[in-house]
Amino acid sequence: MTQNDQEFQARRCALVTGGSRGIGRATALELARRGFDIAIVYAGNAERAAQVVDELEALGAKAKAYRCDVSDEDQANACVKQVLQDFGGVWALVNNAGVTADGLLMRMKDDSFDKVINVNLKGTFHMTRALAGPMARQRGGRIVNVSSVVGIMGNAGQVNYAASKAGVIGLTKSVARELARRGVTCNAVAPGFVKTDMTAKLSETVQKKYEEQIPLGYLCDPEEIARAIAFLASDEAGYITGVVLPVDGGMSM
Ligand code: NAP
Repeated sequence: MTQNDQEFQARRCALVTGGSRGIGRATALELARRGFDIAIVYAGNAERAAQVVDELEALGAKAKAYRCDVSDEDQANACVKQVLQDFGGVWALVNNAGVTADGLLMRMKDDSFDKVINVNLKGTFHMTRALAGPMARQRGGRIVNVSSVVGIMGNAGQVNYAASKAGVIGLTKSVARELARRGVTCNAVAPGFVKTDMTAKLSETVQKKYEEQIPLGYLCDPEEIARAIAFLASDEAGYITGVVLPVDGGMSM
């Protein structure tokens, strides 16, 4: 396969981790609407993942779901290898898989700290490392990492999560610098509070408290974040690298 053929095939595919629900699902659908074929990665909920594959196919995209714990190096490498085989290349990687395990600092167990760092930060590292070589060889690609407003501002009860999301910002800027000369951009979005399963866990009082901190006054739908991710994954964003784009209703300004 020539480099041109390789790039042509890769251009069609986006890999979205955590694509079975919430922001990842909305992103996969938005990218499919914009002409991408989609590989989604999920942790355990095969039924939800299969539903998203159906939705993606209904939009005319080639779509496949991969069960993979991104915090596990071997699983992440094997998953990327399989996606490359199935799709012929990957043009856009969206590192969106993420978890929370909230608790106040003084009561937080090492397990909770490690779990969140391992999925949110190390998972992003694993997937990015596995695709860096193929993207560099095809001389182009887009990496979009999902950080959080909490990684910028901090949040009581989320030292583990905030550390992981701040880590994602440092990783993003370093990868952007390393891969720039290969035509690969790497950026992050920092969502505020979004209506997904992750925030549905919060009590109504906490949700109200968050709403009061948002200048625009409401928690957004996942589609608002998906459109920002899709922009950073697009050809139009070719001169943007190493940025952190807050999509947070003004929270972090
Ligand atoms: P969500 O609805 O809870 O969905 C999480 C997704 O990640 C699911 O697809 C899940 O797969 C997958 N996942 C979890 N652990 C994984 C692992 N170890 N390996 C692979 N996949 C894994 O989450 P969300 O609210 O859409 O959040 C998506 C991203 O946005 C996260 O990084 C989150 O930190 C960030 N974020 C969210 C908000 C918010 O307000 N919701 C705000 C800022 C940033 P299964 O379905 O199989 O479990």
